[in-house]
Amino acid sequence: MSEHLSESVLRRVLFEQSLDAQLIFDESGILECNQALVDMLGVADKSLLIGRHPAEFSPEFQADGKRSSELQIEVDRRARERGFHRFDWIHQRVNGETFLCEVSLTVVQLNTGHAILAAWHDVSERKAAQEELERIRTRLELALSGGDVGLWDWDMDTDEVYYSDQFHRQIGEPPGTLSQYIDWQSRVHIDDLAAAEERLKVLFASNRNHYESTFRLRHSSGEYRWIFSRGQLFRDPEGRPKRLLGIHLNITVQKENEQRLNADLHRSEIMLQTLESTLRTTSLEDLCRIVCDQTRCMIGAHIAGVDLYRGHCTTVELHERSYSFKYQSFSANKDALDDVAACPFFNTLSRIGCVSQEEMQTNPDTWNFCTATPFRPSLRGLLACPLTDGDGKTLGAIWLSDKEIGDFNPSDQSVLRQLAYIVSILIVRLNAESQLRSKTELLDASNEELKQFAYAASHDLQQPLRAISNYAEFLHEDYAAILDEQGKRFLQLQIAAAKRMKKLIDDLLQYSRVSRDETDRSEVDFQNVVHEAMRMLDVDIEESGAEVRFEHLPVVRGIESRLAQLMQNLISNAIKYRSDAAPIITIRVIENSTHWEFEVSDNGIGIDPKFHAEIFQVFRRLHDGNKIEGTGIGLALCKRIVQRHGGEIWVESGPGSGSSFYFQISK
Ligand code: ADP
Repeated sequence: MSEHLSESVLRRVLFEQSLDAQLIFDESGILECNQALVDMLGVADKSLLIGRHPAEFSPEFQADGKRSSELQIEVDRRARERGFHRFDWIHQRVNGETFLCEVSLTVVQLNTGHAILAAWHDVSERKAAQEELERIRTRLELALSGGDVGLWDWDMDTDEVYYSDQFHRQIGEPPGTLSQYIDWQSRVHIDDLAAAEERLKVLFASNRNHYESTFRLRHSSGEYRWIFSRGQLFRDPEGRPKRLLGIHLNITVQKENEQRLNADLHRSEIMLQTLESTLRTTSLEDLCRIVCDQTRCMIGAHIAGVDLYRGHCTTVELHERSYSFKYQSFSANKDALDDVAACPFFNTLSRIGCVSQEEMQTNPDTWNFCTATPFRPSLRGLLACPLTDGDGKTLGAIWLSDKEIGDFNPSDQSVLRQLAYIVSILIVRLNAESQLRSKTELLDASNEELKQFAYAASHDLQQPLRAISNYAEFLHEDYAAILDEQGKRFLQLQIAAAKRMKKLIDDLLQYSRVSRDETDRSEVDFQNVVHEAMRMLDVDIEESGAEVRFEHLPVVRGIESRLAQLMQNLISNAIKYRSDAAPIITIRVIENSTHWEFEVSDNGIGIDPKFHAEIFQVFRRLHDGNKIEGTGIGLALCKRIVQRHGGEIWVESGPGSGSSFYFQISK
């Protein structure tokens, strides 16, 4: 716009009215300017600007990278064209500081000719604010889309809702297609809708303004996404809801993780219950039944089964609806069943090509599988896992079925594998226990038979022996006079032999009675026990000049008569196997947490260490019967008595250095 204005009017406009920097310039430089320009450029006085070209107050380069001088030529050219021009220009104050100006130019006709009238408006601050706003907006957008946060803003008066682009993306809709409340409502999962709308109703009716809700929204693919929504309600002065604004967070992954965690927890609990209840079971059938039941619960299949072979073939199946289980034992030919081929389940697996017989037999780790091939026409997906003993041999399999193949996921497989591991251990344990039980039963039976025999034999032998002994005595009393010397000697030998035999039978009887003795243990003063033993041996003690030393013997729990017998045998041996010196027998005791430990030591002939174990066997003697009397049962009896009292007996001794017998009585 060019005008004919008088210079004086221009000056008035420039100097008095404008807050922007105003200047008139032509090729010769600035002709006139106002104080605002002086201030803007930071010069001391207007006279310093007159005659200078505005381009001198620019940095070398503009924002777009072009040289200011080149641009200036372009601007001058365009300014001379008629019209009004507005553009951004970076200027520089005399102190070097740059600032952005919005420059407006127009050509004016002065008395002196054409000139350009320019107005500079400093827009640095506005530009900086705009840039900052843009930065914030970009950052917010990036954060919202990165964090998968959708924005919504519901105007309740118009019922219009602003849904952000990210909101649209969250549910797979093209941005800008959703605009109303119903767009949200129609996508909420049917199971969550009532609760979600109730939340809104409660919020509107309350005096709170904070909104929070969790629900599923339908994605355009038809799948649902878990959404956590949070917002703020704004009300009009009367408190009526006007606007609800908030965010949508896609929490599908967290929700799924949470659900998986809950499922894992549930499974762990069932696994523990399974362990707990199976640990107590003593029968294989019970074990299989519990395992099938729990596995079905854990993984959710309709049918669970355990098939075992080796020694006996078992099939347990648990059906959901009938809730019955089959147990078949094909134990007719155990040897044949030790072959995996004899088990119908494995046969089927091999037939349908899931796993080869060799793999089943020797390499169970390789055939953990999930297959769509029905192992029976009525069954759909089959998930199976081998059961193995500690040596990597197959014991059987645990399996689940009647569920679609796709329904078995990798976690089902790993759960079944863990379970199979536990079940395998339990089966091996049960098998070992049952073997042990049958061996113990056999051992008990043969022990009992032996005891019966020893008791009956020694008991029945007494009668004829007594007759032999009595008749020999009668012969001696009534017919000794008519016998010659050799006859008398034979008779005496017979009487002595009969006596020894009687002693032997008595000792044997004693021995067999110890284990038959069912008397309960009671409190026994060991001091009395020793006194009783010494009383029985008073003749031997006196004749040998033996001294028995002891003090402070405890009260123990035991069978008094047996303990007296024990001490009698040990003291009697100490006297019998004495050296040339008079026997000195010392009895000591020490107490530990579980036992009393007694020591009976003597200064006798001692025992070679190579015989230390043997002397506790029945009939084991180290001495000839003619020299020192004995039956070889004494220490065997001691051992039995001590074992009946929950302890052990042993000896420490060497030839010529006395013997120390140790035994324990449990507390
Ligand atoms: P017995 O005394 O009837 O021979 P025991 O069973 O009491 O039978 O003892 C077995 C053997 O142990 C004895 O024959 C004897 O050789 C040896 N023996 C037992 N006690 C002592 C002891 N205190 N000192 C040395 N030897 C002993």
